[in-house]
Amino acid sequence: MADPFAPVGLSSRSGARLTPPMSNARYVCLVCGYSDLPEPPYYFDSKRPEGEPSFELCPCCDTQFGFDDDAGECGEDLAPEVVGDHSSRNPAYREAAHLVLRKRWVSTGMQWSDGCTRKPMEWDPSAQLRRAFP
Ligand SMILES: [Zn+2]
Repeated sequence: MADPFAPVGLSSRSGARLTPPMSNARYVCLVCGYSDLPEPPYYFDSKRPEGEPSFELCPCCDTQFGFDDDAGECGEDLAPEVVGDHSSRNPAYREAAHLVLRKRWVSTGMQWSDGCTRKPMEWDPSAQLRRAFP
């Protein structure tokens, strides 16, 4: 059977490792609920059970995971009450930080922030929030 991922014009019989297709998976922003992020905000595996930030930038609320939710990186401690490390690698800190960032985004009018990624047609930020954080 022909390899559906083989580049056009190349035979898969050579045994060469073929590049898999780009993933179509989409991920939800932990701050605003935007659901079309090409990368997850955090990666988890056995070596990184606490999660490793992807530094993905949400085009909707402008949060960069690993920066805006990390007191050392962005220079603002969003959750001084949290015990322990105030970095994005501490799940307790970053969850508290996401909540603060979400409240801030809501209180400033749930604006679409980016210049590069166009706002989706008929974008409804309230519905987006309700879907992500029921
Ligand atoms: Zn967002």
